[in-house]
Amino acid sequence: MDPKEFFKFAKENNAAQLDMKFCDMFGTWQHCTYPLDTLDEGVFEDGFGFDGSSIRAWQAINESDMIAIPDPNSARMDPFFAIPTVSVIADIYDPITKQPYNKDPRGVAKRGIEYLKQTGIADSCFIGPEPEFFIFDDIRFATNQRGAMYEIDSSEAAWNTGKPELAGNLGHKVGYKAGYFPVAPNDSLVDIRGEMVQLMRELGIVVEAHHHEVGTAGQCEIDMKFTDLETMSDQFLWYKYVVKNVAKKHGKTVTFMPKPVFEDNGSGMHTHISFWKDGDTLMAGDGYAGMSEMALHGIGGIIKHGRALVALSNPTANSFHRLVPGFEAPVTLAMSQRNRSASCRIPMYSTSPKAKRVEFRTPDPSACGYLSFTALMMAMIDGIQNKIDPGEPLDRDIYDMTPEELAETNVAPTSLGEALEALEADHDFLTAGDVFSQDMLDSFIEYKRAEEIDALRLRPHPYEFDLYYNV
Ligand code: GLU
Ligand code: MG
Ligand code: MG
Repeated sequence: MDPKEFFKFAKENNAAQLDMKFCDMFGTWQHCTYPLDTLDEGVFEDGFGFDGSSIRAWQAINESDMIAIPDPNSARMDPFFAIPTVSVIADIYDPITKQPYNKDPRGVAKRGIEYLKQTGIADSCFIGPEPEFFIFDDIRFATNQRGAMYEIDSSEAAWNTGKPELAGNLGHKVGYKAGYFPVAPNDSLVDIRGEMVQLMRELGIVVEAHHHEVGTAGQCEIDMKFTDLETMSDQFLWYKYVVKNVAKKHGKTVTFMPKPVFEDNGSGMHTHISFWKDGDTLMAGDGYAGMSEMALHGIGGIIKHGRALVALSNPTANSFHRLVPGFEAPVTLAMSQRNRSASCRIPMYSTSPKAKRVEFRTPDPSACGYLSFTALMMAMIDGIQNKIDPGEPLDRDIYDMTPEELAETNVAPTSLGEALEALEADHDFLTAGDVFSQDMLDSFIEYKRAEEIDALRLRPHPYEFDLYYNV
């Protein structure tokens, strides 16, 4: 769609407003709305001015003027405005230098794809994420003294973690960690998910499946068909927007935080990735699990840089409540075919070479798609360029390994602090080709340390009262 076609599209849909959206460094959409009759095609060149100092970890007050230039190709009718409104995603520019802003995550994804092409390795990178999330009743939440979250006003006040001994009569509720896959009425969220999927389809997102997940307290998953990295990163923001807003319409609320409920499953975002050239996959071959040498080197890159990658694929303090052994989330940085307890799995469902891909299972949906997907691709590029050996496959249940055996494996960081240290020590694979800027990584790390790690450290946790009140 060019600017002219954009205005035609807006007119055909009786749009009265343009809603400009852009993504901050932490994966959250920001927006500003403009009556359409004040705008002309020039807006796609001059953009909209905004205050870059009011966006987390972006500009200082003395250099706050920034420009958001909408991308006409991203235009969609926004399903959640009362007045017909066309939504457009913007790229951020510096008004003085007229250069793309180095802290704009969408720009990172764009530069990443350009870099991939420049290396000659591939011309496309396809991404298929599987975000999971919890749907709760839209009422107040609290934590009990053991740190478990429960609903204060719920008629199911006895409901706690869903554990049978705590929950009493479960009726048609989902049993403890038994949400995968009983039919309705146990799966009471099927129609809400159906409505979410319908809206996603109208927005051009191809959805392959939706289902209740293992988690007792309303854990769900909607799977999108894989597409190219840039499209998928935009789509992931539409996905969150649709899921949250449809839930709200039904008096519910959604969270993508990776571990909202103590002793229940966490929410992951397994990320499938493959490199293609001239319409053909580069992943299939006659190596381990039907992979090409290039794919195996790519996995070598993911494993080598895994600890630093986690800072971008699992970027919240809460992420590390999920990354613990015993709850399906893989903490061992190793590859395996079929084995779901390794961080890099090579799915064996299909024998078709075109379906060959790597599934990186560590990420979670608190990540910014642009940054998480691009970082994963950059780790693979580095692995391929440097022919990094992925090591021996771990085709046994990692959860059964002894502490001594585990000590020999490369494991994911156990806290956000550790992950940030890993990123600080290992990021040349990200700044290659100026895809990620040092400035952006520094701001990201500084923000996370001050606003999340320190902020949490200053607050006593409810469970501390259980542990220490009587000291
Ligand atoms: N919820 C699991 C996780 O945290 C994933 C479950 C699955 O889809 O296999 O990664
Ligand atoms: Mg799942
Ligand atoms: Mg999966």
